Amino acid sequence: MSDSSLPVDNHTPSPAESTMQKSPKADIYAKHSSITEYMSDSIYRNQPIQSDGLSWPAKNTRERSTESKEEAELRLEKLKTAICTVIECIGEDPTRPGILKTPERYAKAMLFFTKGYEQSIHDMINDALFEEDHEEMVLVKDISTFSLCEHHLVPFQNKIAIGYIPNRSVLGLSKLVRVAEMFSQRLQVQERLTKQIAIALNDILKPQGVAVLIESSHMCMAMRGVQKPESKTITSYMLGQFRDNIKTREEFLTLVRS
Ligand SMILES: [Zn+2]
Repeated sequence: MSDSSLPVDNHTPSPAESTMQKSPKADIYAKHSSITEYMSDSIYRNQPIQSDGLSWPAKNTRERSTESKEEAELRLEKLKTAICTVIECIGEDPTRPGILKTPERYAKAMLFFTKGYEQSIHDMINDALFEEDHEEMVLVKDISTFSLCEHHLVPFQNKIAIGYIPNRSVLGLSKLVRVAEMFSQRLQVQERLTKQIAIALNDILKPQGVAVLIESSHMCMAMRGVQKPESKTITSYMLGQFRDNIKTREEFLTLVRS
């Protein structure tokens, strides 16, 4: 990562938050509630994790996650028909032997690429939340995930770093990766992915702070539009100590780059 690609946090503190920054010992959870409340994007107005463990479900997520075997088969058929239409519309022949099974393959792949909608954080975390007297930064980096860009339905590849400072609770390290994967496997934009991981972990762990930094390569930029295959987009989102304390933030960024 070069110095010219410093992470950008486009977030402008609300008046409420500016006040909170003056009192760093303010209750962490109260701070978190205020942060989620003022966000203008409506998806953040809901609780990050709902009683059934779904986190920011899409409109029809519950229909998908609770369907019977027959309903799942119908969904797959509907999707296959739609892919056939796409193949026809680009001028190809869906009955050509080479692509005869493509609609089914693609339909199944599409359901896999978006399986993050169905997953319950409660099931995922399971019993991996531990009480531990550890107050130093925990960092997991180079988590590689894929998402589908919600504007073009083509992939973007993410390299994710997650840091947090525990406040009695620690989470099994593999679960941090699972949470990152779960939010990645949806129709996404990189900015929202960054925020969702940070806010969900803040909700689960009630830590002293959470930081998420994502470096992504967007196929929609590489294959069309500006066509710059080497370009990377960096987003970050910080809460608690990482937002309030520049030294903590710098330590995180140094460790991510090392
Ligand atoms: Zn795109």
